[in-house]
Amino acid sequence: MKVHPQEIEARFRRHAVRVTRQRAAIYAALTETTSHPTAEDLYRTVKRQQPLMSRNTVYYTLGVLRQAGLVREVNVGHHVARFDGNVTAHHHLICLGCSRIMDVMDDGLNQLALSHRQARGFQVLGHRVEFHGYCAECQHAQENVMKRRE
Ligand SMILES: [Zn+2]
Ligand SMILES: [Zn+2]
Repeated sequence: MKVHPQEIEARFRRHAVRVTRQRAAIYAALTETTSHPTAEDLYRTVKRQQPLMSRNTVYYTLGVLRQAGLVREVNVGHHVARFDGNVTAHHHLICLGCSRIMDVMDDGLNQLALSHRQARGFQVLGHRVEFHGYCAECQHAQENVMKRRE
């Protein structure tokens, strides 16, 4: 979802993040995609518009934005962190084949809750559901491999 530059500034201010052109560009790039890119992916995207952008700036900025709660790190159990510019309640489909991450919006999942006993005194602030498996493309590729073997 494309976020207006003025709205980006307003969000940064609300979250006490100093506004710079480079930071705004990184945040804009992240909110414009639903691919949950790695820091490296983002660096490559942003560098096309801002040739002076350094890899360090991208990594550092992602840290600042994550701390401020403006972006989310998606922990997929892969060794490379993936980032999400969408911090509203949603869940993920994660492909074990190609590491693709897709968003799942579902009110039922948002409303999942633990009983008092299950929570064991834990103060729950939120939850994220991850579905693991194989995307349509990976299943299709696998089918083709099987066919060739027959
Ligand atoms: Zn896949
Ligand atoms: Zn997401």
